[in-house]
Amino acid sequence: MRVLLFDIDGTLLLTGGAGFVALRRIFADLYGVEDAVRDIEFHGRTDPLILDSIAERHLGRRLSTDEARRVEERYVTELGPCLDSSEGFQVLPGVVGLLEALGTREDVVLGLATGNWERAAHAKLRRGSLDRWFDSNGALPAGYGSDAADRAELTRLAVQRARGIAGPDAEILVIGDTIHDVRASAAAGVPCLAVATGNATEAVLEAEGAAWTVPSLESPDVARILGL
Ligand SMILES: [Mg+2]
Repeated sequence: MRVLLFDIDGTLLLTGGAGFVALRRIFADLYGVEDAVRDIEFHGRTDPLILDSIAERHLGRRLSTDEARRVEERYVTELGPCLDSSEGFQVLPGVVGLLEALGTREDVVLGLATGNWERAAHAKLRRGSLDRWFDSNGALPAGYGSDAADRAELTRLAVQRARGIAGPDAEILVIGDTIHDVRASAAAGVPCLAVATGNATEAVLEAEGAAWTVPSLESPDVARILGL
């Protein structure tokens, strides 16, 4: 069995800034912060880490557990409409064809290794009509930002769940778009297929130790790498 753990943002889809819009609204409403996402590094970071960065940058402190929970709740509520109205939302080239091909394989299990909070992850997948391949009610091997703020840790959890579902000998790999995906997969002991559709070039991803790099999931190399 082979288990493929997909990152979401920059790998399967681009939200066109829907998450920024939601966070801006929430921090303006709750804390009177004008532009909460200014100077915040998002690429490859988990939702809880992004939240910490915003709070430290604009409030000069961390959020309490209760506050963080409140922001997460608001975020999940706000994100749906922000995704719906996002003009820049797009499923990345090659993704649907690849998932269709993989979805028919009996020897392939699809999963997630994403920094998104679980409900945010599935809201984004639904918006792109990709949710049918990542059914959260079924046996989905996944690690989310809601499991751990540390990407290596959530990737380890996803790998552990993948082995629980597909067996101890399952061949597992991560597919992601940032150096953080590459580092987290190395920490979890699995290879990474890195795709340069986010903010990192193939050269950067390769230098970081990605087992394979491709310009996009539309690349003919993807089928060869995944043994399709
Ligand atoms: Mg990403």
